[in-house]
Amino acid sequence: MKITAPAYYKSFKCIAGKCKHSCCIDWEIDIDEGTIEKYKKVKGTMGERLRNSICCQDGTYSFILSDNERCPFLNSDNLCDIYIELGEENLCQICTDHPRFRNYFSDRTEVGIGLCCEAAGKIILSDTTGFYEIILSDDGKKEALSEDEKYIIDLRNNLILIIQNNRNNIEHGINLILDYADIIYRDKTISEWADILKGFEILDSNWKKYLEQIKELENKNTQLPEIGFNREFANLISYFLYRHLPDSRDYSDLMARICFAVLGYKIIKSLCISNILKKGKCEFEDLVEFSRMYSSEIEYSQENTNSIINIYQNEIFSSF
Ligand code: SF4
Repeated sequence: MKITAPAYYKSFKCIAGKCKHSCCIDWEIDIDEGTIEKYKKVKGTMGERLRNSICCQDGTYSFILSDNERCPFLNSDNLCDIYIELGEENLCQICTDHPRFRNYFSDRTEVGIGLCCEAAGKIILSDTTGFYEIILSDDGKKEALSEDEKYIIDLRNNLILIIQNNRNNIEHGINLILDYADIIYRDKTISEWADILKGFEILDSNWKKYLEQIKELENKNTQLPEIGFNREFANLISYFLYRHLPDSRDYSDLMARICFAVLGYKIIKSLCISNILKKGKCEFEDLVEFSRMYSSEIEYSQENTNSIINIYQNEIFSSF
């Protein structure tokens, strides 16, 4: 069994107190049973604090967020008191892992870092390696991939190669991807998508405002500005393909996930264009922030991701 990751994976380091959108705010944090057992044994004031700050609902333990939706152990410097007092080894599994994700195959586990973390987003978008994978470890055992797994990995590698080779013309690269996967569909307009996304559960009220702004793009009679970021957008699409294709359950789901990857690019690009029209510029930091927001509002919600995938499955396959 191998553990593989994008080449940039090892560059990730949490920026903790410097993070503008800490993952310890606004998110429900479930605590795994192994960690709960450890916390039950902690003595003194920290032990008492732990037991007073954890609740259990339907057998699932989680931290009781404060009124302003902060983890009760996130201190005023935005640093974690559990990390400080008990050490990294006593963080629960979710806190240890975040923003890492895993894709499981018969012969390998892939790991990656998620776009909803601003530190990870900067690394993903600015990557200059062309999105290749490295082997982090290999126990030497030779498990075999199933035919379906082989198909998904080969397809995904080829799509990533296409978009990376066409990063100087992303729109052309997207057409090549869709051709390669034999996907024919009429996508909704950005305005139609903005209306759909507005109907989803929204975490940050600014997201709704941004969706309103991209809706307005359609009414502009002027030529929309060029925004550059070719490499960054190629990396963005590669990330969505890398992360989401392995979750597909069947062929139509797989095709819909390719469209989902392209949609992420279209929405984030529209946010960048809208920023230029409003503020006269869109800098790399803005791109990272729009990507982070899209990721936490859409990609990190299983429900929202599934809703979009269902829409695409209907759109692609109803045309046959
Ligand atoms: S979002 Fe990323 S950088 Fe910020 S606190 Fe969480 S892991 Fe660290």
